[in-house]
Amino acid sequence: MKLKRLEMELQHLNGFPHPRAALEQYQTPAPLAARLLYHALMKGDIERKSVVDLGCGTGILAVGAALLGAAAVTGIEIDQNAVDRAEANATLAGTDVEFIVADVRDAALFGRIGTCDTVIMNPPFGARQEHADRPFIDLALKTATVTYGIFNAGSTQFIKTYIEGRAEISEKVGGVFPLRRTFSFHTKDHKDIEVEILRLTSTRSMNHGA
Ligand code: SAH
Repeated sequence: MKLKRLEMELQHLNGFPHPRAALEQYQTPAPLAARLLYHALMKGDIERKSVVDLGCGTGILAVGAALLGAAAVTGIEIDQNAVDRAEANATLAGTDVEFIVADVRDAALFGRIGTCDTVIMNPPFGARQEHADRPFIDLALKTATVTYGIFNAGSTQFIKTYIEGRAEISEKVGGVFPLRRTFSFHTKDHKDIEVEILRLTSTRSMNHGA
């Protein structure tokens, strides 16, 4: 599937029914989601791989990974309403994705999902709740060999320090996130937020030569 086609397919998916500010529920815009996924595909991290989407929301990344030929895709999300929407989106796109309603901070979750090849995620940036992104990074590094995450532009140094000894940043792709007016505290209809897509490689996998 071509990049443009993937973007169109993702554009058809439905957004959050009742976006919750406290959970930073912003759907990744289709062009940005497609860019992350296509990039991961080209690196050999999607096709025939087991993929987990942490904080999958309405499932745009998870569904996209399935469309690109992932062997198995699991979406993890704390909000049941979002998962209902994600399930409908997976069906709409004709994909087979497993969704689990769970909190990434739950220590027992790792035992439930185990390891996978690739984590993809657009976690909360921590704008509403400081360090909300940390449990996402922690779980991703534990479960996956390679992680693709969307972060606020300028986060690279913080993340590099945070993951030291556990993983390294193997790639960085810049992008602009056109955020639509979603919550009452937003004062403009659109605001471009600069983001970076980081590819994190777990040290564990490098040691094993994977
Ligand atoms: N990945 C989706 C949604 C991004 S918004 C997309 O790209 O469109 C961040 C998502 O993380 C929201 O759906 C929110 O409900 C979820 N989330 C926030 N805290 C969480 C937690 N502790 N455990 C699991 N999911 C969480």
